[in-house]
Amino acid sequence: MSHVFPRSMKSSPPRAVRGEGCYLYDDTGKAYFDGSGGAAVSCLGHGDPDVIAAVQKQVQSLAFAHTGFFTSEPAEELADLLISKAPGDLDRVYLVSGGSEATEAAIKLARQYYIEIGQPQRRHVIARRQSYHGNTLGALAAGGNAWRRAQFAPLLIDVSHIAPCYEYVDRHDGESAYDYGQRAAQELEDEILRLGPDTVMAFMAEPVVGATMGAVPAVEGYYRRIREICDTYGVLLILDEVMCGMGRTGHLFACEADEIAPDILCIAKGLGAGYQPIGAMLCTRQIYEALENGSGFFQHGHTYLGHPVAAAAAAAVFKKLDSQNLVSRAAMMGEKLHTALVERFGQHPFIGDIRGRGMFQGLEIVADRETKTPFDPDRKVSARFKTAAFEAGLVCYPMAGTRDGKYGDHVLLAPPFIMEDEQVTEITDKLAQALATAT
Ligand code: PLP
Repeated sequence: MSHVFPRSMKSSPPRAVRGEGCYLYDDTGKAYFDGSGGAAVSCLGHGDPDVIAAVQKQVQSLAFAHTGFFTSEPAEELADLLISKAPGDLDRVYLVSGGSEATEAAIKLARQYYIEIGQPQRRHVIARRQSYHGNTLGALAAGGNAWRRAQFAPLLIDVSHIAPCYEYVDRHDGESAYDYGQRAAQELEDEILRLGPDTVMAFMAEPVVGATMGAVPAVEGYYRRIREICDTYGVLLILDEVMCGMGRTGHLFACEADEIAPDILCIAKGLGAGYQPIGAMLCTRQIYEALENGSGFFQHGHTYLGHPVAAAAAAAVFKKLDSQNLVSRAAMMGEKLHTALVERFGQHPFIGDIRGRGMFQGLEIVADRETKTPFDPDRKVSARFKTAAFEAGLVCYPMAGTRDGKYGDHVLLAPPFIMEDEQVTEITDKLAQALATAT
């Protein structure tokens, strides 16, 4: 009997014993193509010798030194690397252990910033429905996924949720994509005005929505309008690139494609590429200086902030992305994957939409592609899809829709950037098999 407390008690997963390139192997020797990159983590694939060497070297010289007393070479190097390529005025890097810690810290930083500059009445956060920002209480409050929030609702801070930018579901017939984006963005201004502009501290959103919608980018112009609205009312823009950042979309930072830069940016997952648990919150010089010239202290922290081994792994990942042009490769292979998905499933009766950017692609599974009607949730299409794909040797990330029928089932794909052409066919073959079993 296992003493591990698993996430799901309804199944007994096989034991993973080895990872190599794009594949994971269990203890029976069965190979699985890592089509979800562990939920968009394993951008370099498994067993990368350079990252392993960097981890080994760092653990031998300095495994840990508490940031209450020291900084470290890897933390300094990683922060320099990130800021050298970061968009806009992002200037400081707060290193944490994962995505939820990064978004949680972002919310607290926004609050502290406004206290430090003498606007303590700013306390409201606005986020979007059908989003995911992590599982700690602040991050969960910001997230707009009804199912994940439901039982913890009494413990969550009050966050307003506006509609996501989800063209497939919400664009009206005859409305241009651009007009739809402006209409969706208007909800932010309306909500700021409803709450009272001087009470709102931040708006948080994922540039390309991952887990809860399946690789959905905003339409052209949406984020430029969002940036404008935030600037008009002095609302900080927090972009959550925990899943879509670090090259995943074919840009190092996903917001580059939207031609905007945030005040606070959260990254994780691909930052450590699975070799170490690490996340980061980047903020502008203006925010940092408000604290520096004010209390001089960020009232937030965890023991493993700036962990030297995690930072060394992430610095090695960053240098590998750079030296091997892997972000361009993500764009190029992502295009091939997208084209193959469209060729194979573009006319499939149960696939309503195929979207995404770079190595971040999503398929919307529907009962009727003409009316875009989702499957009845009780058919558990996404759960059956996950099992069928796994049996076929493909790890992907299907997710159920909402019970109100507004959002249907989808499958998220986020393979390693090192994937080769023949593996594009392997993915589509296995997806076709899973689709036939699940629908
Ligand atoms: N934000 C986004 C967009 C995510 O996709 C996730 C995880 O899936 C998180 C935050 C939370 O990250 P973590 O699971 O590392 O805490």
